[in-house]
Amino acid sequence: MNNCSDLGFCGFCQFCLELVSHSFDDIRQKCVQLSLNMFINKLKPPIKHMLCFVLYYSGALSLLLKLLTKFRKSHLAVILFYHRFSKSTPNPFQLPHLDINDFEKQLLHIKQHYQVITMNDLAYILNERQSFARPCVALTIDDGYANNYELAYPILKKLEVPATIYLTTGFVGTSRALWVDDLMDILSNTKKQSLRFAKLLGEEVIDISTPFKKRKTVSRFFRHMFHLPHETKLQTIIDLREILWDANAHHCDPQRKMLNWLEVIEMNSDLICFGAHTVTHPTLRRMDLLKAQLEIKDSKRALESKLGNEVFHFAIPNGKIDDFSNDLKQYCKEIGLKTVVSTEPGAVSAQSDPHFLPRILPPPPIHMFAFDLAKNVFFNSKNNIAI
Ligand SMILES: [Zn+2]
Repeated sequence: MNNCSDLGFCGFCQFCLELVSHSFDDIRQKCVQLSLNMFINKLKPPIKHMLCFVLYYSGALSLLLKLLTKFRKSHLAVILFYHRFSKSTPNPFQLPHLDINDFEKQLLHIKQHYQVITMNDLAYILNERQSFARPCVALTIDDGYANNYELAYPILKKLEVPATIYLTTGFVGTSRALWVDDLMDILSNTKKQSLRFAKLLGEEVIDISTPFKKRKTVSRFFRHMFHLPHETKLQTIIDLREILWDANAHHCDPQRKMLNWLEVIEMNSDLICFGAHTVTHPTLRRMDLLKAQLEIKDSKRALESKLGNEVFHFAIPNGKIDDFSNDLKQYCKEIGLKTVVSTEPGAVSAQSDPHFLPRILPPPPIHMFAFDLAKNVFFNSKNNIAI
């Protein structure tokens, strides 16, 4: 029998076919996953791109997905998470957006090769400790940006793909947005040429005279602010706005960034489910426990009173393991939340903890997305993250 493990996993040789058809699950961890992951992780990005391109457009990946789906005995689920969508290539002062055409391609690929499930389906499967009969994908969108309604919703409706949107309820129907959006707006709109911000960056005078230099400064501020307590972050934004205020500049982005309640109520259906994502999007672990609990409960309640139905799902702001705690997890269970999603990477198995589920950020373009999704659904062993 030829062994293709030096090449990773071709999916076509006798070795790979036997692996798929017989004791795949037993051998997988020892061989396929190791060799595939080692092989892929060692590849330089351009080579990885090229390999994914060839696998996707030759139809080889599609064939491999069909074989794996047919012959594997048990499967995993992956929860994808999105944020913002755009119609064209984003400008350098937009936070990462997914082009809506890429989104549509991703949905078509998911529909062709995976079973799309809702967060309610996922909660039921995990609660009943059932296994996944097919490789499954659940779609989630965080924060509640207005472009979810304008751009993503029509495509989700057209392709009949369900999704869960996690709302930061304090921003719905207001001109407020996340602190990262404010940071980007302030720097991109200022006409000032330099900036000194001793509180965070010492006495250095930072040149912000060009779009490139402004973008670099945004990244610097982002890195320094990310782990600050929520109140300090908000105060930093207020101070920065004051320093860079210029009577001749446009200081607000004319476009409303977040969803309003009419849009939320219109979308709330069998297709679109809403989950809570706190009131003000703070880092929960860096707050007093009672305040953090209120952030969760109040966002759940606000949604329930506007929508007229119970809310069972919650997404942790920022979503990393350090952003949550066992106390908060226990509290989520007590107030009736059936699932809590993180942004820790991984796949979901029947053994996964429903109150700290991993998610995957989908990368464009489509050939990278298709490969990355397959890698996570079929070869991801990280499916039970302990908090
Ligand atoms: Zn968020």
